Amino acid sequence: MSETMKAYIEEAERDLLHTYNRYPVVLDRGEGVYLYDTDGKKYLDFVSGIAVFALGYGNREYNDALKAQIDKVIHTSNYYYNVPAVEAARKLKKVSGMDRVFFTNSGAEAVEGALKAARKYAYRKDGSTDHEIIAMNHSFHGRTFGALSVTGNAKYREAFEPMIGHVRFAELNEIDSVREQLTDRTCAIILETVQGEGGLRPAEEGFLRWLREICDERDILLILDEIQCGMGRTGYYYAWQKYGVKPDIMTTAKALGCGVPVGAFLMTEKTAGNSLEAGDHGTTYGGNPLACAAVEKVLDLFEKDHIIENVRKVGPYLEKSLEELKERHHGITERRGTGLMQGLVFDRPVREIIDRAMERGLILINAGPQIIRFVPPLVITKENVDEMISILDACLESGEPSRE
Ligand SMILES: *Cc1c(COP(=O)(O)O)cnc(C)c1O
Repeated sequence: MSETMKAYIEEAERDLLHTYNRYPVVLDRGEGVYLYDTDGKKYLDFVSGIAVFALGYGNREYNDALKAQIDKVIHTSNYYYNVPAVEAARKLKKVSGMDRVFFTNSGAEAVEGALKAARKYAYRKDGSTDHEIIAMNHSFHGRTFGALSVTGNAKYREAFEPMIGHVRFAELNEIDSVREQLTDRTCAIILETVQGEGGLRPAEEGFLRWLREICDERDILLILDEIQCGMGRTGYYYAWQKYGVKPDIMTTAKALGCGVPVGAFLMTEKTAGNSLEAGDHGTTYGGNPLACAAVEKVLDLFEKDHIIENVRKVGPYLEKSLEELKERHHGITERRGTGLMQGLVFDRPVREIIDRAMERGLILINAGPQIIRFVPPLVITKENVDEMISILDACLESGEPSRE
């Protein structure tokens, strides 16, 4: 590592709040599925900024669209209409099949909005303020208080208690466990269609169908958090579309703007008409013209560049390649996930493996201490998968615990 890079890292450690154990690299620029550090070293990227940069780096059309919008106007506030927001909302409705959109600046804010909408929906029915939300263990919904309150990982929540309250946790894919938490106060059930941070676990079709039925029966809102698994990652624009189990409220972010901070929560017309009203919710930046120009262009490029088709082609290949890798290395106990959202579960902490991969020019990320997560740009090719596997193979061979 050069002295220059070392100096940047030291300064960052002095100046930035220490809330991350960062990997010792200063990333400088990107090209396609490769990133370069400030020393010019090249890395194959299987993280895409945590499932964000779906289109690959340096996409000319995307960059030009942003530059053009910057020259027009970046921000106007939500008290006026703007064309990119109208265009982005129309396109997002089309790919999601949802009816109404509220743009946010992040995933966590999309979850906050969804939770507020659910409480308001129940409040408008009976005027009471003791409604409950059911969330899943091992879920992840973000770091703000509302989102944290429905995140099923006590370690993230503990020091910040009390949470918003009236949240009950159940087990993903266990109908009885949800049934035990249901009361006449339940106003919403929130889950990730495919759990990300919590371990790359997809919700099963039967479980989703049962949730939809119970929600319809009791007029409870089904909230699907598609922030990580949405935007094509599973081979569908939104993962629930595979089963046709449509939520009442859906959250999206991460790849939605491909790096420009933007998220959204979307609702069906019925939910929208019976929940948030004028004055109930707002944001200064949310859905500003720059962010919406990004969303608009990302959705155009998804169609034009056949992104979903690519995921359907390369996703199964990645899955198969990871299964084969698992057979070759006894430390890998399980493969999980779907499409280009995959995880390998190890019998030991994976930080060291990820460090070694970085030395060999491969960027990977964990999901919890013992899982390596694979969330590459959605433009990844089979050749890129082969390249990743051969680097990872070498890392695992050099790090295999010796059997004396
Ligand atoms: C990343 C993530 C969030 C939080 O999004 P931020 O943009 O980091 O606030 C929420 N839900 C899921 C499923 C996520 O993966």
